[in-house]
Amino acid sequence: MADNHYDYSEGFGARAAVSLADPKLRKSIATAVDIQARNRINALTSLADAEALRELGSQIRASAIARLDEHLERLAENWEAAGGTVFFAADAAEAGAYIVGVAEKAGATTVVKSKSMASEEIGLNTVLGEAGIEAVETDLGEYIVQQGGGHPSHIVAPAIHKSKEDVAGILSAVAGKELPLDTLELMKFARGVLREKFLTAEVGVSGVNHAVAESGAICIVTNEGNARMCTSMPPVHVAIMGMERVVGTWDELAVILSLLARSATGQKLSQYTSLINGPKRAGEIDGPTESHLVILDNGRSNILGTRYQAALHCIRCGACLNVCPVYRQLGGHAYDPVYSGPIGAVLLPLIKGTAEAGELAHASTLCGACYEACPVKIPLHDLLLRLRQDYAEEGAGRLEHAAYSAWSHAWATPGRFKAFGRIGGLLGRATGGRSLGRLPLPPLSRWTRGRTLPGFPRATFRDKRGR
Ligand code: SF4
Repeated sequence: MADNHYDYSEGFGARAAVSLADPKLRKSIATAVDIQARNRINALTSLADAEALRELGSQIRASAIARLDEHLERLAENWEAAGGTVFFAADAAEAGAYIVGVAEKAGATTVVKSKSMASEEIGLNTVLGEAGIEAVETDLGEYIVQQGGGHPSHIVAPAIHKSKEDVAGILSAVAGKELPLDTLELMKFARGVLREKFLTAEVGVSGVNHAVAESGAICIVTNEGNARMCTSMPPVHVAIMGMERVVGTWDELAVILSLLARSATGQKLSQYTSLINGPKRAGEIDGPTESHLVILDNGRSNILGTRYQAALHCIRCGACLNVCPVYRQLGGHAYDPVYSGPIGAVLLPLIKGTAEAGELAHASTLCGACYEACPVKIPLHDLLLRLRQDYAEEGAGRLEHAAYSAWSHAWATPGRFKAFGRIGGLLGRATGGRSLGRLPLPPLSRWTRGRTLPGFPRATFRDKRGR
């Protein structure tokens, strides 16, 4: 199924229905996340005390966010001292305009990109395209998704929803001929196309997994080596990072990397861990002559100091997606074109506002599997509950308010509660304790569309206790 069957002007329910109607998609997602989740568990067993490392990771991220202003200031100073340029972008529009400006100044017609969720968040490919600049994704999964005209479905594995047949179809369309249904051949084809792009692009854009304040370096992890090409072959490099993706020291980075690789892909360390600070120095052969670091706020500072601050501890490992029973059924597109799964359901209402994305807080069973899997112990299920509370308070209609007030009033005293129990007992005896099935009238009928209304018991708890 093409990704563009999802209509983002519609609600989550409508998008979820698209996923649920596609058994092939659900099978692809379930198979892939099961493998990822198993790999994570196996990788954690190689640690002497995985829980202690998790606790340490949690403390490191909490401390980094508590000292965010200090860390960002130090990072910016050190990046600039190394010859780079820093731009603090308040929102997506500012970040996009700055990057377009850098590309235009470099006379760019082509920009190569390594995987970056922040760039997805600001819609960078579209903004560059509108300026007449071709943006080419170079992570294989991102390239497949881009050529297929869709969006990533997972924050670590963007093409997780695509089968081998889907990929062959997409790349055959790029090649203008039918490519064999062979993973290696398909990969070779994509690599050939991308090598040309690396050689000719004037600007490389990368994401940032984490930046280190004490050194002014950024760290990028990949398994394909494409980020190294993007950051070293074009003469201009632009790195874009969400403002929360900073830690204080190298030692802290080492802990986070150890958790990230294990939680994301089940590796002890990713194939390529690149550490970059600034452009190439005098006498160096490789590297860009210009290095820009774009630090993106885009709603993040509104989360600081609130009861949702822990959401900023996220290291984007994707482990919570892999264990989520809702993500497993729907894939990422039912949530949003950028962020998905439990962390997406938390972040999106916070970044976009509850009016636009608050309903995503309901895309969870609250089973807590996401918290158990999270390497930095973000209490995602608690945050989702709090968001539901906000959503209910902001979004409930007058009728709903009146219904709940009446209910609260009716049950507010022991006498009234007892009286309602008696009515329930009467109903139970009248119906023989059988289930009432579905409720006939909206809005209550919606509630029983996907579940059976239990029967009223013939004897209440109080009847049985003789009270
Ligand atoms: S919330 Fe936790 S598990 Fe989910 S992506 Fe972020 S760090 Fe990973």
